[in-house]
Amino acid sequence: MKTVFPNYYPDFQCIAGACRHSCCIGWEIDIDEETCQCYQNIPGGFGDRLRENISRETIPHFILGEGERCPFLNRDNLCDIILELGENALCQICTDHPRFRNFYTDFTEVGLGLCCEAAAEIILKQTEPFSLIGMENFNLPEEEAMLFSLREHLFELVQNRTLPLLERIQNIQSQYLIAFPKKTNREWAELFLSLDRLEEKWGELLVGLSQKDTLPPMPKEWDIPMEQLLCYFLYRHLPGGLDDGKYRERILFSLLGVFMIAAICRLVCADGFTMENLVEIARMYSSEIEYSEENTAALLEWLKQ
Ligand code: SF4
Repeated sequence: MKTVFPNYYPDFQCIAGACRHSCCIGWEIDIDEETCQCYQNIPGGFGDRLRENISRETIPHFILGEGERCPFLNRDNLCDIILELGENALCQICTDHPRFRNFYTDFTEVGLGLCCEAAAEIILKQTEPFSLIGMENFNLPEEEAMLFSLREHLFELVQNRTLPLLERIQNIQSQYLIAFPKKTNREWAELFLSLDRLEEKWGELLVGLSQKDTLPPMPKEWDIPMEQLLCYFLYRHLPGGLDDGKYRERILFSLLGVFMIAAICRLVCADGFTMENLVEIARMYSSEIEYSEENTAALLEWLKQ
């Protein structure tokens, strides 16, 4: 099966111990059956430790320790399974993360998920326009062909750098007859505060947003990172329309991601519009919203027009 991936995909490398928001903290990690079986057969003390730290209730998963840390994340924030048994001993989720996959008839698309700070930095620092490596004239079923031609056209509109980003977004709305909802900062904040939340900081930022009537404008040089962000959301989320037919909602969901990340950046810009702020806010938005099936589903429903 052929694989298609974004131009920046090969640049990814996990920063492991240097990661400030390790994916091994706060997430329940399910273990696939094959890996679970392999862990049953590991001899010695480390094998015992593995078996003691796996729950077999419902889907097998690691039992999180204090501070919701994976029990194999050591004090240096390195993975003891890799150190003891090598990378090949990781379960499928740990091997894949932060990569995501979308499957089609003749090929698979992979990408880097924005909830990982190393991936977010790569995506947001790209200056070359987003492009896909490995995309060719596949012989596609009608609905897949429709999806890719729609997405390709959206990428063209988003990446028309002769126009300011705001105008490109207006072009998307007028060409596809969709209207981005008009709300006050308080109303946006209330909507997001009504969703499930992971980090306290995210709630604090939303409360801060609800107290601001206006926000400073985004500097023009931020058009390119925001363009990359919009391409990321469209690349990742538009294909879900093959399952639920919600193409318009998914375009709006992509615009909403860019809008909210920009709004929170504008809120905290007293420290300056720094790339570091943008990466952190994009990472947080991604973990809170697009990595939560419930929150994504709630927003897609809310965005129904
Ligand atoms: S979040 Fe990303 S950089 Fe951090 S530990 Fe996980 S994969 Fe590595």
